[in-house]
Amino acid sequence: MATENNYAYNSKIEGDLVVTKLDTAINWIRKHSVWPMPMGLACCAIELMAVGASRFDISRFGMEVMRFSPRQADCMIVSGTVTYKMAEVVRRIYDQMAEPKWVVAMGACASTGGMYRSYAVLQGVDRIVPVDVYISGCPPRPEALLDGMMKIQDKIEREPSVKNLMNRDMHKAPEKKCKPAPAHA
Ligand code: SF4
Repeated sequence: MATENNYAYNSKIEGDLVVTKLDTAINWIRKHSVWPMPMGLACCAIELMAVGASRFDISRFGMEVMRFSPRQADCMIVSGTVTYKMAEVVRRIYDQMAEPKWVVAMGACASTGGMYRSYAVLQGVDRIVPVDVYISGCPPRPEALLDGMMKIQDKIEREPSVKNLMNRDMHKAPEKKCKPAPAHA
């Protein structure tokens, strides 16, 4: 929510000018243009699909651009049971998403393994990726997902975006991965 700490406006002094902080401007743009990566793994994904339909209409929050390509997404919504078989794929796709990025664990299965206390199921997706928001329920209602996405927006709004950008070493030299081949005897 915008507060007077975020922007200032005085029509007598500044006319049509609004003074703000760079962090506030960047965060305002980011929070209204979240592009989700729908990681639908089980039944919760049906509720995820419902938020895109007319009744719930995630478009109201600027989040309707669901991308199935990690390079075009910045918020992974893990909706469903994460099996060990899929865990590696979830982690790889997360790694392929560009920074900044966020993760929502939607439903009991994604958050904790849910009722599947079995050898095949990961007991919470936070074991492989950092989760920003957990959504309870089996399955959660579409409104609960929207509430979780609004919490992501609140989190984005509070981020020190400029500091994060300045701290990132964007021109870091690539690590030397290959060792020289051993000399043959
Ligand atoms: S939380 Fe419930 S609805 Fe969601 S994937 Fe697990 S079993 Fe299915």
